[in-house]
Order: sequence, then structure tokens, then C-alpha cells
Amino acid sequence: MPDFVIPPSPAPSLPVRGTQARFPLRRVYCIGRNYAAHAVEMGHDPDREPPFFFQKNPDNLRAGSDSFPHPGGEVHHEVELAIALAGGGRDIAPDAAEALIWGYAVALDMTRRDLQAEAKRMGRPWELAKAFEHSAPIGPLVPASEIGHPQAGAITLHVNAAPRQAGDLAQMIWKPSEMIAELSRFVSLAAGDVILTGTPAGVGPVAPGDVLDARIDGVGALRVTVV
Ligand code: MN
Repeated sequence: MPDFVIPPSPAPSLPVRGTQARFPLRRVYCIGRNYAAHAVEMGHDPDREPPFFFQKNPDNLRAGSDSFPHPGGEVHHEVELAIALAGGGRDIAPDAAEALIWGYAVALDMTRRDLQAEAKRMGRPWELAKAFEHSAPIGPLVPASEIGHPQAGAITLHVNAAPRQAGDLAQMIWKPSEMIAELSRFVSLAAGDVILTGTPAGVGPVAPGDVLDARIDGVGALRVTVV
């Protein structure tokens, strides 16, 4: 153990379904506008433009909790498939990317839409709109060795039992293997990295007391109450 000058922060990790073992986190990337209908609802062209990425912090992932602390302002829900990498590299070929995926989880890319709208208007970065405390509730990881690599399946979010978001993984503009390949043109990916793969249409605001029920066929469910 090195002689640290201050106590090191605990290393963030995620639970794995059905085991006490945990997945150690390195970086968290997110892709924007990866479902055409959501791009349209946010006022953008649904054509297949190059993907763009932003980041959250590893300690923004909130696993093993049934609550989401509302940070104030206007906060929107975005249900997303999370992929967790067991390996990485630079300039990864798309057909080599899937083998790097260790597992999958249901996640919420909670977004301060008020701050994001201001950032877009002012040409400023998105961090405070995306990487705030507890901004990514996430369910346990499920290994690809158990469920394979889901290519299709319903991805839904209900708020207080009312349907809000509904899509299918098959509607992703950039598939997980393609987004891994694209991202690796710019950064070195590595084991422990997590990528949130974008949200289908139907995003909207949440308020304290709301119960969010996120589901992805074949991956799992995540239920959190806004507090
Ligand atoms: Mn998102």
C-alpha cells in the first residue's frame, strides 16, 4: 500500500447479479441521441450522424439503492442499456468489440434538462447537467456469459405505473460494438469502463415521490423512488 498523503477514496464498483463479487469501475461514457425518435423529440435530425459522447463520473453510478435523490431544477429520466467492458484498447475493430463486453445492466441517465438547455444555448460543456451526484441509478450487472449479447428487446420506463418511455434495443442507431469502436478512435478503453448507450423517446421530468420503473427485456429491471 502506498503512503498516501490523505486517505484515498473508496474505489467505485458495481454489484453483479447472483453473486457477492463486484465489477470494479474505471470510466463512464455516455452516447447522445442514439435512438432516432429521441433525437427528433429533442429537436435534432434523426439521420445517422457520427455519434458524440460525454462522461459521468464512476461515483455517479448509484447501485443497490431504491432511491434517487432529486438535485433540484428540472430533472429528466432517460432509461438506457449499460454495457460494462472486460477489456479495451485503441482503434478497436467493430467485429472485435463485442468480445470485450463483460455484461449489461439497466441504467438511468438522469439529466438536469434545465442546465443542459442552458449549456447548449451558451455553447458550454454538459458536465453539471449530466455528472451530478447520484445521476446514474443502475441495476446489478448481468454477465454476457449468462444472457448473451442482446440485439433486440423492449426497453421501457414507467413513472408511477404510467408508460413514459418505450423503445427496442434494435432501434439503436449505433450498436454497442460500433460505439465501442468509434469511442476507441479517441480514447483508450479498458476493463472497468461502462458505456450508457442512449435513450428511446419519451423523456420527461420527475418529482419527489415519483416511482421510476425501468426494464430491459433479457437484462433486468430497476425501480427507484425520487426523494
Ligand atoms: Mn442519455
